Amino acid sequence: MSFPRAFCCVGAVLALVVVGAATVIIWPSPVFAYSAGTGKIVVASDEPIPAAGGERFLRQCEALLERSPLKAQSPHYHVYVTNTAWRHNFFFLPAPNASGLAYAVRHGGNAFLAGADFDRGRLVKWGYVTTPPRTLAYFCAHEVTHIVDAEHVGVLAAHRQPTWVHEGIADYVGIEQRQSFEELRRALGDRPVDVPMMQQFGSYPRYRLLVTYFLETKRWPIDRLLATRLSYDEAMALMAQDDGR
Ligand SMILES: [Zn+2]
Repeated sequence: MSFPRAFCCVGAVLALVVVGAATVIIWPSPVFAYSAGTGKIVVASDEPIPAAGGERFLRQCEALLERSPLKAQSPHYHVYVTNTAWRHNFFFLPAPNASGLAYAVRHGGNAFLAGADFDRGRLVKWGYVTTPPRTLAYFCAHEVTHIVDAEHVGVLAAHRQPTWVHEGIADYVGIEQRQSFEELRRALGDRPVDVPMMQQFGSYPRYRLLVTYFLETKRWPIDRLLATRLSYDEAMALMAQDDGR
């Protein structure tokens, strides 16, 4: 079967655009003028990074990763901040409203944050400043954890994890003031998770509750958690059975 020449040209151009876009996502450094950090986290931004705020951000993000049950084994992880609209639109194309995104590829990947106020330690998205406990370091540790997870179990396996595991472990690592299982259980109860609750307990309070339960109460090794195929409902049922609800 033969295709008209114009159709082939459009196909070739489209293929080039896709390859070009993938290349920029895998090697974004040339489109970010500023960078800081030589340790575990290297941050790059399209706007100048203030020395003190940048240094504090790197230290806090590295500290969160350091106490994670999932060890970040690569020498460096790259985090890119997209303050300007075109970069944000381009790198956040799959999820324009996300605060952060991680593109995991074989043996690594890159994390992107929507925007940053380094001096205040806050993420900025569409002009909105995110409130604690979701600090700028929280989003850094959260997105980098997605990459570490994919390094650990493989990109496809990480993609297939139940959402409560995939997002729950990232939330668990990112939250600075971790509540105990009992504290979280008491606070969440059986109420639906609403916005004030997310502001108080992070983006995914109930996913984190489950992760806290399996890691801290059931003492599951991290590998068992990352490999589980328990659905959210099954995991909630196990937890409820255990505390007699
Ligand atoms: Zn996430």
